[in-house]
Amino acid sequence: MILGNKKTNELYLTNSYSKLPKHFYEEKKPTPVKNPKLIKLNNNLCDFLNLDKKFLLKKPGLFFLSGNAIPKSSKPISMAYAGHQFGHFVEQLGDGRAVLLGETKASNGKLYDIQLKGSGKTSFSRQGDGRSPLESVIREYIVSEAIHYLGIPTTRSLAIISSGEFVQRESTLPGGVLTRVASSHIRVGTFEFFFYRNDNESIKKIADYTILRHFPEIVNKKDKYQKLLEKTMILQAELISKWINVGFIHGVMNTDNTAISGETIDYGPCAFMNTYNPNTVYSYIDIKGRYAYGNQAQIIFWNLTKFAQTLSNIIDQDPKKSNKLIVNSLEKFPEFFNNAWKKNIKKKFGFTKSFEGDDKITLEFLEILLEQKIDYTFAFRKLSSSLESEQKKQEFFKLFSNKKKIKSWFSNWSLRIKKEKEKIANTIINLKKTNPLIIPRNHVVEKIINEVINDNDFKKLDEFMCLLENPYNEYYGKENYINPPKDNEDIKNTFCGT
Ligand code: AMP
Ligand code: MG
Repeated sequence: MILGNKKTNELYLTNSYSKLPKHFYEEKKPTPVKNPKLIKLNNNLCDFLNLDKKFLLKKPGLFFLSGNAIPKSSKPISMAYAGHQFGHFVEQLGDGRAVLLGETKASNGKLYDIQLKGSGKTSFSRQGDGRSPLESVIREYIVSEAIHYLGIPTTRSLAIISSGEFVQRESTLPGGVLTRVASSHIRVGTFEFFFYRNDNESIKKIADYTILRHFPEIVNKKDKYQKLLEKTMILQAELISKWINVGFIHGVMNTDNTAISGETIDYGPCAFMNTYNPNTVYSYIDIKGRYAYGNQAQIIFWNLTKFAQTLSNIIDQDPKKSNKLIVNSLEKFPEFFNNAWKKNIKKKFGFTKSFEGDDKITLEFLEILLEQKIDYTFAFRKLSSSLESEQKKQEFFKLFSNKKKIKSWFSNWSLRIKKEKEKIANTIINLKKTNPLIIPRNHVVEKIINEVINDNDFKKLDEFMCLLENPYNEYYGKENYINPPKDNEDIKNTFCGT
């Protein structure tokens, strides 16, 4: 079945990536699924992308979202890429279970990729079945949308489809298809794919395509490839500092899961930290803690050095010169990261000005959280409310077992807040704008996934998504979605779910 017609132009997609040379991808149609059912359509995202909701809710729309039919304008492809996985280079990965249908222009005038994930085997599937378990599709939908509404760049999720088929993992699981939306799917691993093959011409082509798509302002610059490196470094420094601020742990920061656009991509065993501890790891495959919460800044730097290496032959033809330019750029990373982190963490403490001693206040608070095993999100949210009343202040203190320490810290912080010379009401508003009340905690996400899959009950998913759309609001009577897990609810591991 072919969807869309020229008159209505419904689902008109462009295909700029497939205009690149043939070895950049494989032409591949999604493999139809047995019995597709729409579990969730993202109305806000439909509006943003100017997609017709009414069309998507009907049968042809369902067929589009499940890969059972493709729009006439689409030239579906699976993209080639390589990547460093847990530090080891794999020369060929690629979209083993995803197909890029094409791009659509959103209401902000920018192009967005529409990709189906779980859409069947491709030539990059290796031993995989090309499919996704429904549980990992729902997980990606919830977490990626939550990340978006927390104000963090990310790929987004347009729809969840249950496929009516089963996939074999450790057990037999129902299958699903996710419609993923991204400002592009170009990864550090995409560049590595060509670099490994000594294919400088292709590196130039992918670099030029990336610049045109993401950084058009440098198209005519003489040093555009070095600028591409630095712009990517800045976007990634911003991204990771924002993850750190909300306690997000990506879980598999391989270079193939690092998008040049600066968006969070490839939600696998990711999770939000409950109790503050930089060593927190959720992914059961990350045995050595390479991708622990507190390692993420170092790891992104490592990934960026790999990216820089792929540009070495096009930054300058003279290897010595090129090397020097790359080192100059990479040396700026600590500055890029510290600027981004400081700018963001300051807000969490209500600081708009800078004073000597701010760093000490910040670090001491984190040390107390670590020592006393306090929930990270709760601590900052209750700190934000503590200025509202004596009762709220006492509620904040209640979180801590060693009251003396936190009270002493609190008086220093209060003195510092006074130096802002801002009305307290405004400080509280600013604090609450940056310290969320609700995040998708693992134990809640798991419960909701089970309700959708086992009980066919979507009410809680819908309600949870509504709350996550405004994570900085006040909510009453929603503690089940908001509170940290009780000891018996805590989930220490997440599974890749591929
Ligand atoms: P990920 O861990 O999801 O980032 O995937 C790493 C690589 O494995 C990518 O090349 C994926 O396309 C591929 N992959 C993951 N799951 C599957 C699957 N079920 N079938 C085929 N390829 C897969
Ligand atoms: Mg991946």
